[in-house]
Amino acid sequence: MVYERDISNIIWDDEAIQQRIREMAREIERDYKPKLERNGKIEPLILVGLLKGAFLFLADLVRNIEEIPVEVDFVRIASYGEGTTSGELRFIQDLVDPVLNRHILIVEDIVDTGNTLHYLADILSNRGAASTGFCVLIDKSARREKPVGMDYVGFECEEDKFLVGYGLDYAEKYRNLKIIGELDPSAI
Ligand code: 5GP
Ligand code: MG
Repeated sequence: MVYERDISNIIWDDEAIQQRIREMAREIERDYKPKLERNGKIEPLILVGLLKGAFLFLADLVRNIEEIPVEVDFVRIASYGEGTTSGELRFIQDLVDPVLNRHILIVEDIVDTGNTLHYLADILSNRGAASTGFCVLIDKSARREKPVGMDYVGFECEEDKFLVGYGLDYAEKYRNLKIIGELDPSAI
């Protein structure tokens, strides 16, 4: 594997990630089944993935959701001052589908300060979404600046680690890894 020496510590391997995603899918099905019912019909839940980081997580998550209908959409948000999470946020790619009166579940790789998810949830609620939920694979809850509560969390990451793999990048590399790990300082 070309990146083998760049990863100093595997934190969650492929099996742990896939196992946790299956559990999260069951929770989502259970919670949304009654919520999505309207006039005797079940309307689809819209899963909104944040590009680029959430692409693998969203792909694996939807493949495990079988008991409720789902639709998929994507947004891409960037902050001025690339590489940091501070700075002003803006859409690079907006949602394609209308969200008015729809139940939305935002799917994100990792939540840190919460600024990105807060910004997106604000916009979706202004556009009249029926509900906006948050589903993140990794929560760095100790670093939260905005009061955004996560509805589904795959793994907690308390420490201030910099993670790569399974969608998460460093300088656009490592997104294709099946595992999530810590980057060795020699790779930076
Ligand atoms: P925030 O919650 O601060 O608005 O930003 C979350 C975003 O910061 C994530 O979507 C991700 O792009 C980036 N981020 C935060 N922590 C990490 C990390 O440990 N590794 C990587 N690759 N990106 C991170
Ligand atoms: Mg992200």
